[in-house]
Amino acid sequence: MDGIAPEHRCLTLVVAAFNEEEALPRLQPRIRAALDMAEAEGLEARVLYVDDGSRDGTWPVLLQFAREDARVALLRLSRNFGKEAALTAGLDRIERGAALILDADGQDPPELLPQFVAKWREGHDDVHGTRVAREGEGVFKRASAHGFYRIIGALSKTPVPRDTGDFRLLSPRALAALRQLRERHRFMKGLFGWIGFNAVSVPYQRDARAAGRSKFNAWKLWNFALEGITSFSTAPLRLATYAGLVTALFAFGYGSWVILKALLWGDQVAGWPSMMAVILFLGGVQLMALGLIGEYLGRLYEESKQRPLYLIDAWRPAEGVSSGRH
Ligand code: UDP
Ligand code: MG
Repeated sequence: MDGIAPEHRCLTLVVAAFNEEEALPRLQPRIRAALDMAEAEGLEARVLYVDDGSRDGTWPVLLQFAREDARVALLRLSRNFGKEAALTAGLDRIERGAALILDADGQDPPELLPQFVAKWREGHDDVHGTRVAREGEGVFKRASAHGFYRIIGALSKTPVPRDTGDFRLLSPRALAALRQLRERHRFMKGLFGWIGFNAVSVPYQRDARAAGRSKFNAWKLWNFALEGITSFSTAPLRLATYAGLVTALFAFGYGSWVILKALLWGDQVAGWPSMMAVILFLGGVQLMALGLIGEYLGRLYEESKQRPLYLIDAWRPAEGVSSGRH
């Protein structure tokens, strides 16, 4: 009609929410404004909320949104599967057009939608927001995030852009590509990087959480980092090999010296401290390497079970659209 290609006509905002009854009512007006902006740009726009098995009043709040606005689609998972699975569930439901992923806590500003859409229309497949400031996040979180991006950058062959979360717009073909990746351990930042295509970043200010508390504490973040590294790199395994090699070389050198000493000067019982030190050290290294192998083996085990990534409890498509499911 007005020169816009058909695949550039439809956009779905995907919001994963877990216990966000406080934050969602603040987000929804901003989402609606963003949808209006998208419609002004000639897009068929809607929002899909994924309730990731919340235990508070999130679902009733979402139902209310759907009653008030026909552009709201809802999906509820049968339990809390984690943000990665919830996002996957949401993205799987998108049949047409692009997807824009947002956090429910208002940390990813929906106001940037026109900028994202403009980049998408220029031909980019993965438009991601890169944080230039992280409000309301402590020194520890910033430092650990910084360290994490450096480590994963060094270890993994898959590009993981720095200071970039799940806040991004994916073109239809990027979405289709992502849907083919059905691994159980889903490190989304890595998966987004893995599919490739035309990526571009949009810098933005990351505000503090609007309400409620972050679901990711230090321990969870640590595990998340391990997840990322083990999902996208086998470098730790190689490291274990090298550590083993170096230790073996050392052991060989030291062993030769011990034998030589015994041959030259006789074999007095001595060296208990050094023996203990060596045994303990080797024991430690071996256990670490074993644990590392176990980490990868565990992943293999999870994959081999071939369970679905999530289960759906309820699905309520958007009403306001005549064609398509939502
Ligand atoms: N989230 C989710 N399932 C979970 C944990 C979190 O869907 O098991 C959602 C949460 O509702 C929010 C987003 O993931 O929309 C990011 O969570 P949070 O703000 O707690 O993380 P942070 O911004 O502190 O990294
Ligand atoms: Mg947050």
